[in-house]
Amino acid sequence: MEIKKGIAASPGISIAKSLVIDAEDYRIPRRAIKPSQWIAEVQRVRNAFRDAISELTRLEAKQDQTEGGKIKDIFAVHLRFLHDRSLRKRITDLVHSESVTAEYAVSTVLRQIASHFTRVKDTYISERAADIYDIERRLLKQLLGKKREDIEHLTEEVAIVARELSPTQTATFNKEFVKGLATDAGGRTSHTTIVARSLGIPAVVALEDLTEYVSGGDTVIIDGNRGIVVVNPDEETIQQYQEYSREFAELEHRLDGLREKPAVTRDGTKIILLGNIEFPDEAELVLQKGGQGIGLYRTEFLYLNTENEPTEDEHYQAYAATLGVFTDRPVIIRTTDLGADKYTQSRRFAPEPNPFLGLRSIRYCLQNLTMFKTQLRAILRASVLGEVKIMFPLITNLQELMQAKMILRDVMEDLGEESIAYNKDIEIGIMIETPSAALIAYSLARDVDFFSIGTNDLTQYTLAVDRGNELVSTLYSAADPAVLRLIRTVIQDAHKAQIDVHVCGEMASEPEYIMLLLGIGVRTISLTPPMIPEIKQIIRSVTMEDCNNLARKVLSMNSERQISSYLRDATRKILPEAF
Ligand code: PEP
Ligand code: MG
Repeated sequence: MEIKKGIAASPGISIAKSLVIDAEDYRIPRRAIKPSQWIAEVQRVRNAFRDAISELTRLEAKQDQTEGGKIKDIFAVHLRFLHDRSLRKRITDLVHSESVTAEYAVSTVLRQIASHFTRVKDTYISERAADIYDIERRLLKQLLGKKREDIEHLTEEVAIVARELSPTQTATFNKEFVKGLATDAGGRTSHTTIVARSLGIPAVVALEDLTEYVSGGDTVIIDGNRGIVVVNPDEETIQQYQEYSREFAELEHRLDGLREKPAVTRDGTKIILLGNIEFPDEAELVLQKGGQGIGLYRTEFLYLNTENEPTEDEHYQAYAATLGVFTDRPVIIRTTDLGADKYTQSRRFAPEPNPFLGLRSIRYCLQNLTMFKTQLRAILRASVLGEVKIMFPLITNLQELMQAKMILRDVMEDLGEESIAYNKDIEIGIMIETPSAALIAYSLARDVDFFSIGTNDLTQYTLAVDRGNELVSTLYSAADPAVLRLIRTVIQDAHKAQIDVHVCGEMASEPEYIMLLLGIGVRTISLTPPMIPEIKQIIRSVTMEDCNNLARKVLSMNSERQISSYLRDATRKILPEAF
């Protein structure tokens, strides 16, 4: 039995057999094999080479018929590598000498060669490293292909264990069979985590080296409440967890009973609870859990499941479906937030050195106007179907906001000329997710109808801590005094300008932050749907006086640790089951 501690990313308990998968671009974890498995593993290496060669030969032949001169040359180079017997021998020797899997041997040898190429001064040779990585991926695809298919055609319950999962991979998991997720990488607000929460799949991330301890088929317990994974648990531990899981399910069931009850504090302050969604079919879940509308529709997920950009009509259909669930309730559609860990990296020819500081979000849209306008047209067309609001993400300065609004006006004019109906008074909001935006909130407030504070990115950019990097995850905390001060500034400036202000980052889904948010003046929060009942229960158990006192106390503290533990203690008194 092995117990590993990571970050509790999505609540719930799962006990299931593991399915270990490896994302294409990551080093395959070292997994030992027994000498009796050597022959089979060497055979797998041979088969992978054979199948990769025949796949490439097919692709090369196709190029004959089309334009393909340059591409054909590339395939020819790759084929020469694959036919090289000494390469194959180096790999199979490693399987024997180190007793490792075929995947591990392929990955190790090819990465050694690639890194050797990279160090050569001659640019032609150093650029060949990319070819080697390509060959590695092709061979791994052959070796792992079966497992990938397995994921698409699951017939029994599994817990997925991986070095890292992309938000897209996670979004395609079938909830019926995928009962838990555990990854070496990731953070509490990485997009994969956010998707797992929305799907209601228990998850633990930032386990660092879990994949080195788990083999496919091992029993694993994933405790998404406490951030623990137990590999090959003994009978007693399984029983304890079964009991705990039953208790947790009972709590959830009890909280679901709050659905029709209002989110109001004991002394009568009404709070609006909205849901965050990635896909239109989640709108139904928001409604079921008692949400009063959609506070953040992450529309970029429309792009993530497809090779092609969505058409105007595909956008429109997705928005119309959401509005079908919330006809007379606010639906805040955030314009595409691609880039960084979402989509553009894998498709970019030259990946950016600092993707989170690069061409992401509104910046990407402002440089891809055709794409941006297509989405704006669809949002405006959908605006006559309900209470649609539009929200621009990652605004860092006034000029960006002006540009985005100008483009929106252009699109409105186009629609007007085509006599297509839209709501001319559609509310326009922005996300406050960077320190620069928070510091000029007073000025941005003059040009928008509302703010939504994206605490996930605001924390990342304020503290200079990558939200998805497990190596610095202990430094990532919305309870840091610097982050809290910025949040308070934004709320005060919004109140002064008399515009609405919401909080839609993961902070709003975490029980320990709710009293603080209320105490610093937040009255609308948007959160992951499965957490709505628990958060409502907290709101219904407190008075504004409690919250104001707590906020005053917390804002006078200057250490993150002190704040975090104070918030946890205060919340534990109100909802002990949440911990
Ligand atoms: C945020 O940054 O807090 C946010 C809600 O946006 P996302 O998590 O999609 O980046
Ligand atoms: Mg964000």
